[in-house]
Amino acid sequence: MNRRLPVYLLIDCSESMIGGGIEAVRAGITTMISQLRRDPHALDTVYLSVITFDAEARVVVPMTPLLDFQEPPLTIKPGTSLGGALKLLADRIQNEVHKTSHNAKGDYRPLVLLLTDGQPGDDWQTPLSRIGAQVKPRPANIYAIGCGTDVDYSVLQSITDVVLRMDDMGPESFGKLFVWLTASVSSASQGVSETNDGKIKLEKLPNNVEAVTAKAEPLPDGPPRQAFLRARCSTKKFPYLIRYKFDSMVGCYQPVKAHRLSEEDAKTASQGKLPDIPSQLLNGATACPWCERTGAGSCGNCGTIFCSDMNDRTDTTCPGCGNILKRDPRGGDGKGFNVRQSGG
Ligand SMILES: [Zn+2]
Ligand SMILES: [Zn+2]
Repeated sequence: MNRRLPVYLLIDCSESMIGGGIEAVRAGITTMISQLRRDPHALDTVYLSVITFDAEARVVVPMTPLLDFQEPPLTIKPGTSLGGALKLLADRIQNEVHKTSHNAKGDYRPLVLLLTDGQPGDDWQTPLSRIGAQVKPRPANIYAIGCGTDVDYSVLQSITDVVLRMDDMGPESFGKLFVWLTASVSSASQGVSETNDGKIKLEKLPNNVEAVTAKAEPLPDGPPRQAFLRARCSTKKFPYLIRYKFDSMVGCYQPVKAHRLSEEDAKTASQGKLPDIPSQLLNGATACPWCERTGAGSCGNCGTIFCSDMNDRTDTTCPGCGNILKRDPRGGDGKGFNVRQSGG
């Protein structure tokens, strides 16, 4: 059997990836696969596996030859179980990567491409010790790519020497990143990128990605930097997600943007057990992404948060349970609401 190059994509599918992030990753994987399939070295050696993580980690594509690889659906859920993902990765590497023995050359050292955009919400140190940089020889070459502006780079630096940052999470930015990742996988498949000391020689980075070389400070303890509130449009009934950012100056969460959710994402997004953030910490809402109304209220009967018009004097039908909600000046039934917190 040929020496294989196992490539693991570890993808953060927490709520903070919503709003272009996750679609861009899907598109990036598609492009990557079609490019790599044109590369005879890659076609010969590359085996791909996809592990996603939200509140839990799962193998969505087990190790598969490049030619047979089929892109997995990626869905958004709350939570960032980086520790779970690292544990799963360590298990998979142990079980499916062939080791070199005295009569056979094993697989190439696996290449792990980790994409995350938040703060881990679980214990990641324990599983790390199984695959981390401390172990010699390293069982995997890990590229950790922080996406967006809420990444804890000190965490990524304890996972690997190769830490990259990409602040812009737009589709073009992800596009460039995936071109670069593709080139990296391609050159690894030719065995040229591994120098003698086991250090990784990086392909030239695109201009939207930089290497994080200075030692990063851990993010200060405190509330999660982002919070997410699930809501439903009261006119069109469709679900959406409001993104909040913690504002340490005022000690509360400011709404940033609301994103449309598919019914399927809304269904999976409502699973996941996380503590609540009291509504007093949330400073208002953003415009509904479906109908542009700027207020929000909540249903005292079923707890659904919905868009509402501050100036509208008519009653609203709850898009969650169909209850008729009487107006009051504060919007909704005036009971306030609790947010399902997400550490994503
Ligand atoms: Zn609406
Ligand atoms: Zn209701």
